[in-house]
Amino acid sequence: AKASMQERICLFEDYMQAEFDDRQELEHDLRLAVERDEFELVYQKQVEVMSLNVHGVEALVRWNHPTRGQISPAAFIPIAEELGIIVELGEVILRRACIEATKWTKPIKIAVNLSPIQLQAPGIVGTVLEILNETGLDPARLELEITETVVLNDRNGVVDILNDLRALGVTIAIDDFGTGYSSLAVLRDIPFDTIKLDKAFVRDIAVSPEAEALVKLVIDVGNHLGRTVIIEGIETEAQHQCIRRMGCQVSQGFYFARPVKASMLDFLHVA
Ligand code: C2E
Ligand code: CA
Ligand code: CA
Ligand code: CA
Repeated sequence: AKASMQERICLFEDYMQAEFDDRQELEHDLRLAVERDEFELVYQKQVEVMSLNVHGVEALVRWNHPTRGQISPAAFIPIAEELGIIVELGEVILRRACIEATKWTKPIKIAVNLSPIQLQAPGIVGTVLEILNETGLDPARLELEITETVVLNDRNGVVDILNDLRALGVTIAIDDFGTGYSSLAVLRDIPFDTIKLDKAFVRDIAVSPEAEALVKLVIDVGNHLGRTVIIEGIETEAQHQCIRRMGCQVSQGFYFARPVKASMLDFLHVA
């Protein structure tokens, strides 16, 4: 039988309450997780398209929750941002990534994601410098990934910060490129070294001429500007061959490797 309107409203309210409790609990647990250090980094290989040699890795955070198991960053990073915890968490992540990278047997690049909130928090340049000094990581090995949206509000402020970061010797990647509404303006205004084309553009590349043309355009722009272009989300041999023909230098995707613990990175042979 169909639920009456009143019953349906009650069901909806129960649902909302459950969601709310869940969310409260998650917030509570997240605050504790930073103290209890429940985070772990996994690394996804980035490969040179022609040689298949390793170019670098991207560090991706995982939360090992004591009862819920592993939680994806897509689920907790936005909450950490809302709660302001992201600044502290982001520092923990960056420090850990730099420490781990100094132990590796090959001096490959390591890319670390920076939340827009973290990038615009006071003292970010000092924090990065401190972590570099503390860990002894060669700044040239560190790439900081930021998204296009960072420049929406305070463009001048962000440009200054990025210039200061680059002056430390680190490189800047524009992540999820093409998903914002001002991608071309970003290329014009923002100091950067690497474009990471969002995986949404790659999905249909081997079957759609339009998709292919757009990816080619970004590769060509990057090459003309003398920047590195990394194509994300390569999942198939056909996609790999396609970007290879188009002159893409670096790519990243499940076709080459899933994100894994540092000890599982085959090209490092770390214990
Ligand atoms: P992102 O920075 O765009 O990272 C790439 C995401 O795509 C990762 O998901 C990765 O596992 C996934 N991916 C890689 N190759 C493929 C592929 O071939 N196909 C598909 N479908 N997906 C692929 P993950 O690890 O779940 O991270 C999701 C997002 O969470 C990241 O997107 C990033 O925005 C955020 N994130 C992850 N780690 C951190 C971190 O340490 N700090 C901050 N601020 N954000 C993070
Ligand atoms: Ca990223
Ligand atoms: Ca991305
Ligand atoms: Ca993203």
